[in-house]
Amino acid sequence: MTVGEEMRRKIANLVSGRILFDEPMCNHTSMGVGGKVDILFYPRSAKEVEKAVSFLVAEDIPFMAVGSCTNLLVGDDGYRGCLVSLMDLQQFEINEESDRRVSLFAESGVPLSRIVEVSVKESLEGLEFCAGIPGSVGGGVWMNAGAYGREMKDTIGSVVVVNGNGKRRKIEREDLPFEYRGLDLPDSTVITGATFDLLKGEKEEIQRKIVNILQSRRDKHPLGERSAGSVFKNPPSSPAGKIIDEVGLKGTMSGRAMISEKHGNFIVNLGGATTKDIVALIDIIKKRVFEQKGIKLETEVKIIGE
Ligand SMILES: Cc1cc2nc3c(=O)[nH]c(=O)nc-3n(C[C@H](O)[C@H](O)[C@H](O)COP(=O)(O)OP(=O)(O)OC[C@H]3O[C@@H](n4cnc5c(N)ncnc54)[C@H](O)[C@@H]3O)c2cc1C
Repeated sequence: MTVGEEMRRKIANLVSGRILFDEPMCNHTSMGVGGKVDILFYPRSAKEVEKAVSFLVAEDIPFMAVGSCTNLLVGDDGYRGCLVSLMDLQQFEINEESDRRVSLFAESGVPLSRIVEVSVKESLEGLEFCAGIPGSVGGGVWMNAGAYGREMKDTIGSVVVVNGNGKRRKIEREDLPFEYRGLDLPDSTVITGATFDLLKGEKEEIQRKIVNILQSRRDKHPLGERSAGSVFKNPPSSPAGKIIDEVGLKGTMSGRAMISEKHGNFIVNLGGATTKDIVALIDIIKKRVFEQKGIKLETEVKIIGE
């Protein structure tokens, strides 16, 4: 898509936040790969998200929401259309619901590390599992991010979304179609914030859980290298990392991408990898695992663009 001067002017008048044209997504993805997106913009309020979505729909411009881009691969030839980044939506608030229950509302751009930090400070239980997950609230909810036996769906009270028609609405937990590493809403849905239902707890106990989780992550994951976390969903039979190890693929390289020696379900960028290199490794893994184990692995990372 060529974004002409006229369109650039219209878009510039639309929101007060940053707007980048022809922006290389390798500057934004945790993997450090990805070509140029036509338009990357950063609404500064939920109201601006509504305006942006209404405009993009009316102009028939393809779009999708992004957060910290820690679960995202963008094609080497980029993404034609608009990526709406929620990272400038940073408000949050805590409300005491009863002697025991507290709700924490956070806008989509708030890092998960921040809500973990706040919950420790306020002695709130329920978000310990998010420790060490490098995404944002919006991305975490969209992915139903999880670890150590818990997922977003276990603590979410409600989510605020802007629909494909540009209207904002709140969806209560019981109406949210969460699935394993996903939320089954139309792709045009933009999450602007979420409320987490938390319990008052013991600060030392909460801290102890978090320290253990962070230590376990350091022991198991290649945290010093650029990755997008787990590449594949775990099939019911066994963790994907274990299966990839069993079929002997750890350490396999394609260009400058490598299946981590430390954890089979991580692909790391050794510096200078392309999305093509990573997708080639994904294909090698899928093929070998199916041939040797009869298991069809499904990707957890989102691959978009060309
Ligand atoms: C080192 C490392 C460790 C990780 N460990 C874990 C883990 O333990 N568990 C786990 O589940 N994940 C893990 N991840 C993956 C990732 O951090 C999570 O999936 C995270 O929740 C993604 O958030 P994000 O803001 O980066 O989303 P992005 O990568 O920006 O987007 C991911 C998907 O969510 C959609 N999305 C993002 N924001 C919104 C929004 N506001 N509204 C609608 N859709 C949106 C995007 O369109 C895309 O489809 C890890 C990643 C890394 C790099």
